[in-house]
Amino acid sequence: MPKQDGKNRREKGKLTIIAGPMFSGKTGKLVAMVDVFTRMGHHVLTVKPSFDTRYGNRKEIHSHDHKTTQALVIDGEVPDEILQKILMIHADKIIFDEVQFFDKKKVIKVIKELKKRGMHVIVAGLLYDYQRRPFGATSDLLGLADERLELFAICQKCGSLARHSERMHGGKGQVDVGAADKYIAVCEKCHKIYQ
Ligand code: ADP
Ligand code: MG
Repeated sequence: MPKQDGKNRREKGKLTIIAGPMFSGKTGKLVAMVDVFTRMGHHVLTVKPSFDTRYGNRKEIHSHDHKTTQALVIDGEVPDEILQKILMIHADKIIFDEVQFFDKKKVIKVIKELKKRGMHVIVAGLLYDYQRRPFGATSDLLGLADERLELFAICQKCGSLARHSERMHGGKGQVDVGAADKYIAVCEKCHKIYQ
């Protein structure tokens, strides 16, 4: 592989976004990317916000169909922690799962900085919360991205393509971390706002 000088590295910075509702396959796709990139010889760093306490708060991302890969757990309020870690492990591919749980302004700033340093940043996140309102930084990052992939789940009420996550149990706050215990995937027509 040709050695990259500073200028080339900067030109190679890229942002890829994978957006979709819960159960649409975002985490599964990230796990596949880590596997393929690693076999290609890249240094991949996967991060997730400490807010995501599903699956026993383990240091991994974990898909609903149980595909996993190691991850660094970062405080969503201080995503800049990642900048020091990256220098230590010489990562060139940086993956963020559940990007909507990071502080919006700070995570956008960090992602822009990583891109400027020539890194390929891949983020996955929910575009909408359970009330169909924009969720965290995801829609802004969609606008900034060089590559965009929108995934759909299957509507658990009618079988159409689902863009939304419907809360079935839990609180009324924007964030109430859960999986199939609290949420189902639904299409726009079937979606009901949890009361
Ligand atoms: P995400 O990270 O987008 O929440 P995951 O990659 O963790 O998605 O999980 C995707 C998996 O969820 C699918 O491969 C499937 O096994 C499972 N699944 C459960 N409910 C649904 C649904 N309504 N539509 C599609 N897949 C579903
Ligand atoms: Mg996921």
